[in-house]
Amino acid sequence: MTFSIRELKGIGPRKEALFAKLHLVTVTDLLQYFPRDYEDRSHIWPIGQAPCGSGAPLLICGTVISVQEMRPRRGLSLLKVALSDGTGAAELVWFNQAFKKHQFRVGMTLTAFGKLEWSYGRRQMNSPETEEGRAEGNGFVPVYGLTDGLRQNDVRKAVHEALGMAKDHPEILPGWDGCRQSAFSKLSPLQAYEAIHFPASMAEKEAARQQLAFEELFDMQLGLLLRRHRQRPRQGIKCGPNGRLLKAFYEHLPFTLTRGQTRAFLDIQADMESEVPMQRLIQGDVGSGKTVVAALALAKIVENGYQGALMAPTGILAAQHYEEFCRLFSGLDVRIALLTGRTSVKERQQLLEELAAGEIDILIGTHALIQEDVHFASLGLVVTDEQHRFGVRQRSALEEKGKEPHALFMTATPIPRTLALSLYGDLDVSSIRELPPGRKIVKTYAVGEALRRRVYVFMDKLMAAGQQCYVVCPLVEASEKVDLQAATELYEELRCKVFKKRRCGLVHGRMAAKEKEAVMEAFQKGEIQLLVATSVIEVGVNVPNATVMFIDGAERFGLAQLHQLRGRVGRGSQQAYCILMAKGGSEETQQRLKWMEKIHDGFTLAEKDLLLRGSGQLFGYLQHGLPDLRAADIIHDVPLLAAAREAARQWWQEYGNPGKAEEAVTRRFGAAFAGLLNN
Ligand code: ADP
Ligand code: MG
Repeated sequence: MTFSIRELKGIGPRKEALFAKLHLVTVTDLLQYFPRDYEDRSHIWPIGQAPCGSGAPLLICGTVISVQEMRPRRGLSLLKVALSDGTGAAELVWFNQAFKKHQFRVGMTLTAFGKLEWSYGRRQMNSPETEEGRAEGNGFVPVYGLTDGLRQNDVRKAVHEALGMAKDHPEILPGWDGCRQSAFSKLSPLQAYEAIHFPASMAEKEAARQQLAFEELFDMQLGLLLRRHRQRPRQGIKCGPNGRLLKAFYEHLPFTLTRGQTRAFLDIQADMESEVPMQRLIQGDVGSGKTVVAALALAKIVENGYQGALMAPTGILAAQHYEEFCRLFSGLDVRIALLTGRTSVKERQQLLEELAAGEIDILIGTHALIQEDVHFASLGLVVTDEQHRFGVRQRSALEEKGKEPHALFMTATPIPRTLALSLYGDLDVSSIRELPPGRKIVKTYAVGEALRRRVYVFMDKLMAAGQQCYVVCPLVEASEKVDLQAATELYEELRCKVFKKRRCGLVHGRMAAKEKEAVMEAFQKGEIQLLVATSVIEVGVNVPNATVMFIDGAERFGLAQLHQLRGRVGRGSQQAYCILMAKGGSEETQQRLKWMEKIHDGFTLAEKDLLLRGSGQLFGYLQHGLPDLRAADIIHDVPLLAAAREAARQWWQEYGNPGKAEEAVTRRFGAAFAGLLNN
């Protein structure tokens, strides 16, 4: 049973529309709209001991010792009420609200709630809420995210009404018996919701939050179990042990594999030799050598008489893979082809014929691979590079070109392993943690505006010696147009003034794909020495001769993004540099830049990044069809996640009731998430 929020007292069509902007349509939605913060009205601070300037509003109470109205300037009135409680005094001030004067009398007891700040050596509260008498014990008052036209009190009242309704209709509370059977569920469902919205103490709130987070994670894990259960038992292609082609491939390799690469391929080998189709994610830092691991897997499928496909997010990247594969497989009897948006109609026609006839062994390409008229004779393995750049649909579209092919996904945005296991649910994960030997670390410096000229001189010197540089400027504003203008201005300044003697180029997100690729190609060939780009520059491009990554406005980037950008240099034999130009920024920003200077391992940085930025960011990377979580924070609640995973498994073993599980998952996360479970 669901109720529209219209059924709550005080909500008419106008408020309904405002709530809808926050995606709050049903009473259940509202109950799950948790406060983003709380105001502490649980106790009154002695004025002399109350923290000043903390930014958090607080409660004080005392006797009014004076009420003054002043008119320092025309059109400006100032009302000052002095309050004292024996431990200290505070001044309450209001601008242009002289009418309030009559609410205050000298000698009355007054409670005030507001932010306490220092002003000319005095404690001051600007426009506090006030109440006559000593008003203590209001507990913690929730603070909700709002939208224009909606006030805190509107949401507070509505939630209050909703909790009242839940007394008569407990079924509107999310959750069910299954997820409530655990040590975390100490409070009754109603108590838990009351405590998270209107807690008496922060300890009570946290207990309620953990209980609700556990229940939410339980349902999420149940969803993942259900997805696994729904998958038909699949018969994969059982490959034989490694044979002649792989042996020749190994012998032909210009280097020895790192331990991480070897282990990743051992995992792949075991998957491909089993009956169940492989579903494996390879996580490895930029430059850790994932491509050759993919090549090994593809060699294995070819050796077993099947075709393989490798899909990359951009044409340039696909072309680079193609060239590398041609080198890796040269002299071996493997036919490799490239299919992208740039392949001519005639070539494409021929290629598709050969593909359907089984005359191509490995097809490398972009989204072009999933077009409808692309038919393989016998597709046995699909590899998706930079998998987070593709949607769930696109990845499965490629798999559907074969009959239960093995699937390998690669990503350079690693997440901690425990998290990966719990989140991906149905993907196995291998991690490559080390870089190939001899790789020099990219010297990284965070610098301020004052050093800009010197950095330019340094870059010019390197370019004079034949090296190349990237200059990245961020997408700062909400408007792409404004940012583009900023990038263009910087480009013009560099081209016309600073680096007049150098050949400069510009690439940005608004350019057509063809134009973009042309500029990138010119940079790759060395025709452009200095490339100015907005943060949208191509992933994974390989230009070994580029040795400087200059990031302007580095304070605007997250750690993972900075690390990805840095990974574009240091690919050749020369020493490379990453220069982070930042303007001030918060403590968090400073911390981020310091970590960049010190830490060069992508996994460690990814963990730090997640801690700094929380899980909101995580879902951006994953796009793995996970629901939005309300009470749980995946990063900080890893222990809860593990417990919920275990509890959900136990429930499944005991009851194994898919209908019930689906009902619970749909009720909590909606039909959209439940729909994904049928894939
Ligand atoms: P990524 O993991 O970022 O996709 P690549 O596969 O592009 O990395 O590899 C980066 C570079 O390292 C390539 O030029 C590749 O030839 C080289 N490489 C890969 N593995 C090794 C190795 N074991 N020893 C030396 N060089 C390697
Ligand atoms: Mg790569």
